[in-house]
Amino acid sequence: MDMISDFDLTGSNTMGLKSFARRAVIVDDPTILPALARESAASGLPLYFLGGGSNVVLRERLEAIVALMRIGGRKVARQTDTHSIVTAGAGENWHDFVAWTIAEDMPGLENLAGIPGTVGAAPIQNIGAYGAQLSDFFLSLEAYDLQGGVVRTFDAQDCRFGYRQSHFKTEPGRHVILSVTLALPRAWRPKRDYAGLDQLPEQISAREVLDHVVALRASKLPDWRVLGNAGSFFHNPVVSAEKAAEIAGAPRYPQPDGTMKLSAGWLIEQCGLKGFRLGPAGTYDRHALVLVNHGGATRTDIAALAAHIREKVRDRFDVELVQEPIEL
Ligand SMILES: Cc1cc2nc3c(=O)[nH]c(=O)nc-3n(C[C@H](O)[C@H](O)[C@H](O)COP(=O)(O)OP(=O)(O)OC[C@H]3O[C@@H](n4cnc5c(N)ncnc54)[C@H](O)[C@@H]3O)c2cc1C
Repeated sequence: MDMISDFDLTGSNTMGLKSFARRAVIVDDPTILPALARESAASGLPLYFLGGGSNVVLRERLEAIVALMRIGGRKVARQTDTHSIVTAGAGENWHDFVAWTIAEDMPGLENLAGIPGTVGAAPIQNIGAYGAQLSDFFLSLEAYDLQGGVVRTFDAQDCRFGYRQSHFKTEPGRHVILSVTLALPRAWRPKRDYAGLDQLPEQISAREVLDHVVALRASKLPDWRVLGNAGSFFHNPVVSAEKAAEIAGAPRYPQPDGTMKLSAGWLIEQCGLKGFRLGPAGTYDRHALVLVNHGGATRTDIAALAAHIREKVRDRFDVELVQEPIEL
């Protein structure tokens, strides 16, 4: 196992936050995980896992062993009468995996195209976009349980998926996801019942939907390679119907249990914070929900900006914003 000391993670997180790990290791083979767990225990350094670094806020100095997840591989596991069953290694790039399924004539994931990061991190927050989410297609995953020292299979029920939620967020760091298996229905129709996709013609290929989604995303979100960001920085808050009614003009999305989902971006924008800047950190001038690194920002800068936004939204609307990216 090759450990690298004082590993620079600045290029390994999409916010581009300056960060160093005491030690880092590339995990391209799951069989090294037991030894890695022993090394963590022996050294007293906690073990953190990183995929594409697109949903994390990294401290400047991580006194930890950071495992960079690079387990590859993707295959059609089997075909049933109704579904194509596909499996991918945790370190596979999510968008490349989506594009591969469509090139192999297995449509379904096109609305989820363009989401940065890895396959292995996708279940952690049940990634979603344009009216689809991972759990719509999820069959199972394999994960190494660092506490029990065994590989476990999780089905959808075990994962307890919710809106940007899963079981894995309730026990952070315990399970290392090794591979994910999805079931893609063979009877396919484009999913167009979502703003931005509703004008698409009924006769359209999955590849055309994918291209449209990628173009839409590019028109709304900054390219993290140019302007560091982690996508949406806060969850859309879910409040009671009464509370939602108090906020005049707010876009609201009814939930099955009678509550209302509000747009965090709208709330922030109403506070005059679209394009706002605090030191090297700021909100994107075309989308207030995206916090950006204008250059040289650290976790401290992002935390100060996030606290300022939360305070303004709380004061004006009495709504609590919850951060989406995970603090490591
Ligand atoms: C521009 C942009 C747009 C985005 N748009 C969306 C969107 O539309 N919808 C959406 O849902 N998300 C979106 N995101 C967030 C992000 O892309 C997803 O959450 C993605 O799944 C994170 O993948 P990652 O590999 O980068 O995870 P990382 O950021 O590396 O890790 C995230 C968390 O998962 C853990 N983790 C990573 N890999 C593993 C593993 N194999 N086993 C166990 N734990 C692991 C990490 O420890 C960390 O806690 C966006 C981000 C950006 C930058």
